[in-house]
Amino acid sequence: MTNTVSTVGTGADGPGQPGPAAPPDAPPAAQQPDWPDRAALRAVADELATLPGLVLAEECDRLSDRLAAVARGEAVLLQGGDCAETFDGVTEEHVRGTFGTLGEMSALIAEGAGLPVVQLGRIAGQYAKPRSSPLETRDGQTLPAYRGDLVNGLAFTPEARMPDPGRLQRGYRISATTLNLLRALAARRTTEFWTSHEALVLEYERALTRDTPSGVYDLSAHLVWVGERTRQLNGAHLDFVAGIRNPVAVKLGPTTTADDALAIVDQLDPDRTPGRLTFISRMGADAVRDALPELVSKVEASGAQVVWMCDPMHGNTFVAPSGHKTRDFDRIMDEVRGFFEVHADLGTHPGGIHAELTGEPVTECLGGTKPVTPEDLPSRYETACDPRLNRRQALDLARALADLYAHHPPSRR
Ligand code: PEP
Ligand code: MN
Repeated sequence: MTNTVSTVGTGADGPGQPGPAAPPDAPPAAQQPDWPDRAALRAVADELATLPGLVLAEECDRLSDRLAAVARGEAVLLQGGDCAETFDGVTEEHVRGTFGTLGEMSALIAEGAGLPVVQLGRIAGQYAKPRSSPLETRDGQTLPAYRGDLVNGLAFTPEARMPDPGRLQRGYRISATTLNLLRALAARRTTEFWTSHEALVLEYERALTRDTPSGVYDLSAHLVWVGERTRQLNGAHLDFVAGIRNPVAVKLGPTTTADDALAIVDQLDPDRTPGRLTFISRMGADAVRDALPELVSKVEASGAQVVWMCDPMHGNTFVAPSGHKTRDFDRIMDEVRGFFEVHADLGTHPGGIHAELTGEPVTECLGGTKPVTPEDLPSRYETACDPRLNRRQALDLARALADLYAHHPPSRR
């Protein structure tokens, strides 16, 4: 397949012109904004393409090494943060809250598992959201859906919902600000901390892709992932991540076939490099025990050494009677337990957990040891997209994980 990334900078205007234009032979891209002004988009992406990357290629390589250890069963991966970061939500308190919560969770998990924990934030660039419908109707008015702060605004007005390429510049700047604080916090704790987001808006990801002496990297984050709605086998998103040397991840929902997973392995990890590819299963508590085993056993048989990660959030979302999109802690834990059962049966390593969480005492998910009740939901429901675990619920999850790892049989790899 054509490598779209190696042709970065060769848009319609010819070689050497950095910019958002997809290569002429690029496959179709799902979930892209309908930008009203392509020239403005092009100008913004050209500018981004001249700015420094947000991370270094060598940092991406070091994360690949850490993920190889996870793939071998020698470490655990913890990935977490907001479903959708917002530009206004990036405050020192918020960043410290996510960083601190992931740190506390890691300490608990490391102790239970007796393994180091690789900490990966959904942070410093998690600004773009896939949507089930491109339009949203309220009180008889229909507007473009909110696609994340990288694209448009959450307010339900025609002005806010118009995709604005200037938001790509703000996203870059606010990501840099966030990374600056994260790097300071990590240095003070002498801990490693890595950043990740969904590589959704391809104009942005392409504009931050650089041809470095060690190869082509998307320097918008250490790891980027492809979501459940954009992992089409012949689609632009898998094609894009196939061409970068960052470690990459792909979400796998309950309809994924073993052939789909094997085709993704062949496309993204043809050399079977441990830690190159992370599969994030998000099956739902009801499906995980049936849907996951065949994927794991066939991918393992292919010789790939992927990181197997469980996202117990996205398959367990429902709408409460109050109208709030929510998730129940018990259902989340049921999917996590199912994930561990599958790996115990197959002798494989349950590599890690992917969660939407915040350090703040929000009331977005139900349950936990200081239970959030359906009546509590309206009081601090602050997410711009999906419901997050609050700090207390995140630590409940970490304690449960510590126990599950402590009792998990060593993997046979
Ligand atoms: C997400 O991670 O916020 C998301 C949209 O997940 P998925 O692609 O698994 O639906
Ligand atoms: Mn989400």
